[in-house]
Amino acid sequence: MHHIPAVIVGAGQAGLAMSRCLDHHQIHHVVLERGRIAERWRSERWDSLRLLTPNWMNQFPDWSYQGDDPDGFMTAAEYATSLEQYANSFSAPVITGAAVQAVRRVPGGYRVESNNGTWHARSVVIATGHCDVPLVPEMARHLPDSICQLTPTTYGNPAELPDGGVLVVGASASGVQLADEIQRSGRQVTISVSRHTRLPRHYRGRDIMQWLHCYGILEDEAITADELETARSLPSIQLIGRPEHATLDLAVLRDIGVRLVGRVAGIRAGVLRLNRNLTEAIAGSHARLDRLLTRIDVFADAVGAPAEPHPGPFAVDESPTTLNLAENGIRTVIWATGFRRNYSWLHVPVLDASGEIIHTRGVTPASGLYVTGLRFQRQRDASFISAVNGDAIELAEHIQRQLTTAPGIAA
Ligand SMILES: Cc1cc2nc3c(=O)[nH]c(=O)nc-3n(C[C@H](O)[C@H](O)[C@H](O)COP(=O)(O)OP(=O)(O)OC[C@H]3O[C@@H](n4cnc5c(N)ncnc54)[C@H](O)[C@@H]3O)c2cc1C
Repeated sequence: MHHIPAVIVGAGQAGLAMSRCLDHHQIHHVVLERGRIAERWRSERWDSLRLLTPNWMNQFPDWSYQGDDPDGFMTAAEYATSLEQYANSFSAPVITGAAVQAVRRVPGGYRVESNNGTWHARSVVIATGHCDVPLVPEMARHLPDSICQLTPTTYGNPAELPDGGVLVVGASASGVQLADEIQRSGRQVTISVSRHTRLPRHYRGRDIMQWLHCYGILEDEAITADELETARSLPSIQLIGRPEHATLDLAVLRDIGVRLVGRVAGIRAGVLRLNRNLTEAIAGSHARLDRLLTRIDVFADAVGAPAEPHPGPFAVDESPTTLNLAENGIRTVIWATGFRRNYSWLHVPVLDASGEIIHTRGVTPASGLYVTGLRFQRQRDASFISAVNGDAIELAEHIQRQLTTAPGIAA
């Protein structure tokens, strides 16, 4: 068993940012990664994916984009390479191929067991990602065996799909991007829509992320527990990073022929029961968009940005109440219904009833155990690449204090 002050689990951007910040405090540590650095960007993203955050926004501690296209959008492979370069830039102590299989409290800290060694650490930082395991609803098992079921982590490109139509369930960033790509490849796509967040790519002369990031809108801090719960359950925004900076929302999908239906409420013998929530969901997202743009208008007016009308509401027919997959020629269902976290390896009592880690700004109730990279960890943008930096800086300071003031942790 190796003895070390700190172990970080996961070498995505959150784990690497944490590693850099522990370096600043000269805290000896290792980063245990089950695959390769940035594994999710190498093996769990579809072929055409580009980041939806512009290059200038993807920053880590002591690292910022140095290329000649700050307003562009990296491919997943380019982003994985940049994370690898970042790790190399400070010789991050990453041990690849080390899947953590158990973390337990032991006298003086934690025992971290991986398939590539065991560590005793006084501090453990969990950085295994907010988008950990696709959240596929229970009802998926009622689909007939003849239907090919995928998630955004197993979808590659339209050519790999069986012939026939495709149902995409979920209209967040992944859902709308897949629906757009597959419809444009010549197949009929149906998208099942529930609560979602619509955004234009460009507004009043700037990329929307510039308004959201530079004027602190993404940095709204969580105040009450209720606000936190609501914020953490919000679907991701409908946005796409394309070289031509195009907007992608349900109005665009409707215009290219995608069929919009309501939320899937149940499945029986190849027939889906649908909620009649479509017009309400679209009106709700339009109202949220309007509120957000009104907030941006205050800053835009102050800097004299050219005026631009808010995108208008758009009309759709209300959803049918059923969808017969065979009658509609649908052979593939893609569940773009979000992610859950799997902490089955974490044998420390810090999980709530829904299996999420209980924490305040990344500090769990178990002394010496931390989590980073979760959605709305401290502020609204915490699941964005740029936001983990503040979390990592704050947690590293906490760990430094913990290591100097608590010589050992009671089991
Ligand atoms: C399709 C998609 C597109 C996205 N696009 C953007 C975008 O454009 N811009 C943006 O800001 N955000 C985007 N996000 C959000 C994005 O996931 C986060 O911003 C960020 O990449 C998460 O980094 P992370 O380090 O927290 O987690 P991850 O990148 O998920 O890294 C976690 C790491 O932990 C490892 N791991 C997991 N379990 C174990 C274990 N038991 N033992 C050892 N290692 C383990 C994994 O292999 C992985 O390498 C996107 C998310 C998805 C799903």
